[in-house]
Amino acid sequence: MTATRVLVLNSGSSSVKYQLLDMRDSSRLAVGLVERIGEETSRLKHTPLTGGGAEPREREEPIADHEQALRAVADELAADGLGLDSPELAAIGHRVVHGGLKFTEPTVVDDAVMKEIERLVPVAPLHNPANITGIRTAQALRPDLPQVAVFDTAFHTTMPESAARYALDVKTADEHRVRRYGFHGTSHAYVSRKTAELLGRAPEDVNVIVLHLGNGASASAVRGGRCVDTSMGLTPLEGLVMGTRTGDMDPAVIFHLARVGGMSIDEIDILVNKKSGLIGLCGDNDMREIRRRIDEGDEEAALAFDIYIHRLKKYIGAYYAVLGRVDAIAFTAGVGENAAPVREAAVAGLEELGLAVDGALNSVRSDEPRLISPEYARVAVAVVPTDEELEIADQTYALVSGRNA
Ligand code: ADP
Repeated sequence: MTATRVLVLNSGSSSVKYQLLDMRDSSRLAVGLVERIGEETSRLKHTPLTGGGAEPREREEPIADHEQALRAVADELAADGLGLDSPELAAIGHRVVHGGLKFTEPTVVDDAVMKEIERLVPVAPLHNPANITGIRTAQALRPDLPQVAVFDTAFHTTMPESAARYALDVKTADEHRVRRYGFHGTSHAYVSRKTAELLGRAPEDVNVIVLHLGNGASASAVRGGRCVDTSMGLTPLEGLVMGTRTGDMDPAVIFHLARVGGMSIDEIDILVNKKSGLIGLCGDNDMREIRRRIDEGDEEAALAFDIYIHRLKKYIGAYYAVLGRVDAIAFTAGVGENAAPVREAAVAGLEELGLAVDGALNSVRSDEPRLISPEYARVAVAVVPTDEELEIADQTYALVSGRNA
């Protein structure tokens, strides 16, 4: 029997998201999530999707750590006849947030790879440790199986030095590996490729600006299938206004808050990453709620929306200039896929750049990739739902089956 299944694991600091896919037709066999690992109220939600899609099963019980979480997931899968001991399982694909400069491709994890992922912990202290735990636990469960790391930074390693370097003293920057790495790379890769497909053209022939607007948000400029610039930097803090992050800000604000505001570095870190962005501006980070408040005449929400859109527009303009020629702009992730007013406002007034949105097309709700620009527009504006799990599974399976992705 050929092994055609891939388990995708996305291990966060207190959660594990997973999907089991059959790569013969990219179908999902099961999806699920373990939340609040390490707390009294941990929760596992497992949805088997075989046999006509069964009901989700939920368990609420203390799950102490990632190992226990993964064992619980393995039990749930086994209950559906999809156990991790199945010979049909070809590999486990892990989302790894930071791959630094070394990892430009999905990589089978061995001791040397693990060491390198560990070496990157200082530049991704929140993410890489959880990813490492996920890989270790999966290795313990199936030591014979290839564990593949798919890096969030990999797609951005093609950025030229002119985009990747900060204008910071070179010696200091190199000593501490300070440069722009970019994140959400799996999504930017998938969406830029899908956008080319939607236009009926080869990725090599198309220049795309991808706007990944979720709770975290980033933009990328993709020339002929290769990333040439992206808005996140050393960490996911740089760039667009996000749900809870400031995005771009004069770095001297940090000195000011420390020196004049008497805040500690840790307090500022939490402030700019968790308490700023939309939530810091208006108390809400869910775009649905912000739009509802605007409809009711709430000025604070309206200003937060305007700041969000202003930044987005600046990046569209910047990446237009970086690319020189733009064939398409693609909106993706929770906000990009669902919030028609964000898409409309982001390109409003950019007709001179060949950009426009058709109101009727923009208001259609769909899970399919689609164009929302009028026929006359020079640049296609698209909504392209992202699918990071499928991309991770695809890259993982391509690597272990010797197929080109
Ligand atoms: P992440 O993966 O970064 O957590 P998602 O891509 O799932 O985020 O996006 C989550 C965000 O998407 C929510 O915070 C919300 O602002 C937005 N969102 C989700 N659904 C809708 C909707 N129907 N309309 C507007 N915004 C939405």
